[in-house]
Amino acid sequence: MNVPQSSPGSRLDNYVDRYAARTAGMTASEVRALFAVASRPEVVSLAGGMPNISALPLDAVGDTVARLVAERGTVALQYGSGQGDETLRSQICEVMRLEGIEAHPDDITVTVGSQQALDLVTRVFIDPGDVILAEAPSYVGALSTFAAYQANVVHVGMDDDGLIPEHLDNAITAVRESGKRAKFLYTIPNFHNPMGVCLASERRARILEICRRHDLLIVEDNPYGLLGFDGEPMRALRADDADGVIYLGSFSKTFAPGLRVGWAVAPHAVREKLVLAAEASVLSPPVFSQMTVSAYLETQPWKAQIKTYREMYRERRDAMLDALQTHMPDGTTWTRPAGGFFVWVTLPGGLDAKAMLPRAVTARVAYVPGTAFYADGFGASSMRLSFCYPPPDRIREGVRRLASVIAQELELRTMFGAPAGRPLPGSASPTTQAPGPDLA
Ligand code: PMP
Repeated sequence: MNVPQSSPGSRLDNYVDRYAARTAGMTASEVRALFAVASRPEVVSLAGGMPNISALPLDAVGDTVARLVAERGTVALQYGSGQGDETLRSQICEVMRLEGIEAHPDDITVTVGSQQALDLVTRVFIDPGDVILAEAPSYVGALSTFAAYQANVVHVGMDDDGLIPEHLDNAITAVRESGKRAKFLYTIPNFHNPMGVCLASERRARILEICRRHDLLIVEDNPYGLLGFDGEPMRALRADDADGVIYLGSFSKTFAPGLRVGWAVAPHAVREKLVLAAEASVLSPPVFSQMTVSAYLETQPWKAQIKTYREMYRERRDAMLDALQTHMPDGTTWTRPAGGFFVWVTLPGGLDAKAMLPRAVTARVAYVPGTAFYADGFGASSMRLSFCYPPPDRIREGVRRLASVIAQELELRTMFGAPAGRPLPGSASPTTQAPGPDLA
């Protein structure tokens, strides 16, 4: 059978006129084509946020899956409940206890990764034009979801200690004075994507106090909380305000992203809406994935596996920070993450990270330009570097290549007194980019 292909002037082009207004916010990243090049083996990609699952005991996982199918296959391969598997929900409570959260399995909605939890929360709360407060910068996948629901994202300043409480207070007031009411604050308190920083513990109580005072709901997105390199996990915001915080968790970084198992913990009334929204979206989250995670938690040393991940990522973080210190030209600054996957680098001399990307890729290194993490076009002088995936020697080589590209750009700028190179098409316009694996 011939499948009709869309070609210029074909009848299929007409459908564009019929798209829903919300599709205007669904735009592909203009750096996506470059990422296709960046996935070539000779390019060191510091762009992707892919967990390094080669550290997993694949044989043991395989045995767990085989036993699951042999012994409970008729359940594991059947439809399940919209809220998620009850045994897994109890185990999730145990996982969250590591961050001080006391929850009941009834409070939990299992989702298809925390990305679906973000989608459901946004669907439940956001009408077109509604305001969401979000850190500046913010996770690109969340910005894509917010754009798909036509939210108006207002960014709130951050520094090396995370979200700045005074800025939050001022932003809530400014939104209110403009005649609107922010629907929720979206925040990533631990090992932030893309900045790598953590919300300082003394700020946590202040953020909760401000949100309580303004009656603002918090959406706490915490996929990296157990991936700290030193000490105990930070206490979750949700641990100190069960009524004011929706908490999102994920097994993508502590186990495996391919299973697509995440969850939301929400106040009771909200939880009911989330389950109804989930049922309308996927009927039930995949039972097979949930039971695989559940069996893994029950039979495998999952805490030891998280320790293995932490040690591996720590070594990679060290390699990246060391290489940045050794190679980066004066004036370049970067964050020093104590966990997670990312370093946020800010370029000197007004250099534009997006304009520079094609030259970096030619020099066989890739990163994500900072503008991807803003809904309003800011972030041009910054970039996100990931240390999660390449081995330490590749990270060192990638940073060395990147530093020499930056040095050349600075030299050109000194010679010609103008920003080097042409910006990529669209680089001046505010965009929210569909994530894809390189932007995860
Ligand atoms: N939130 C943040 C901050 C993330 O970095 C990611 C993935 N990169 C997600 C949510 C989504 O993760 P998943 O759907 O795999 O749980």
